[in-house]
Amino acid sequence: MSTDLNKQKEIMLELRNIHVHYGGVKALDGFSAQIDEGEIVAFMGPNGAGKSTALKSIFGLVPMSEGEIVWRGNKINNPKPHEMVPLGISFVTQGKRVFKHLTVKENLEIGGFGLNNKSLLKERIKEVLELFPALVPKIKQKAGQLSGGQQQMVAIARGLITDPRLLLLDEPSLGLAPKVVKEVFEKIQEINQKRNTAIIVVEHNLKSLLPIVHRAYVLDKGKMVKHGEPDELMKTKILEKVFLGALI
Ligand code: ADP
Repeated sequence: MSTDLNKQKEIMLELRNIHVHYGGVKALDGFSAQIDEGEIVAFMGPNGAGKSTALKSIFGLVPMSEGEIVWRGNKINNPKPHEMVPLGISFVTQGKRVFKHLTVKENLEIGGFGLNNKSLLKERIKEVLELFPALVPKIKQKAGQLSGGQQQMVAIARGLITDPRLLLLDEPSLGLAPKVVKEVFEKIQEINQKRNTAIIVVEHNLKSLLPIVHRAYVLDKGKMVKHGEPDELMKTKILEKVFLGALI
């Protein structure tokens, strides 16, 4: 029997009925999702659908008015960012990718803040650079001198220094040229395959992302409207329906 058949899917993270409000704005309205060990899962949907809020709720960056986050079978009461990193979760936020005035190496070292072990940090930087060889010649350069795509690579590399089991990526394609977006998504796939890191990617860039994900959740107006494997989703009209407004 093949090892694949023997491999049981293990649930890593569950979001159960999450509600988040910003004042009077209902950003998430009972969103539920499940991520298995080693999966790449996308949260997709048009602007304002609640994708980023869903990611932030996992990492404790927004307060939930209702709902539960369950990590490897244990309910996490009021998740807080500094408690999520030791659990094995890392968050690469949207937009401000790097500390521009610091070198690439210093940016990576910041990712290891809290490791409290210089030789481990050195080892982790070495491991991460093996995944990002293009950063090696740039290691002493100020991150702000790098291209947008390279800065995104630094941000993702920094997120890997703590050796997370789950990586949260918020709009990694934002502001990048199509060719660079392709490279970033290929790198995401490589991280998943080489390190077996589970990854949740928030994206509106549907076309480039779907080929690399195992499953996707489609959100609209704070609710999950559909989830499934990319092929199943492509067969339904749901993506066109939800994205029509965003694409034209
Ligand atoms: P997405 O990531 O799908 O674009 P968001 O999660 O950023 O959606 O936003 C969901 C809803 O919450 C939107 O209506 C947005 O305007 C609102 N929202 C997001 N962040 C804030 C905030 N800090 N204050 C007030 N409203 C917010």
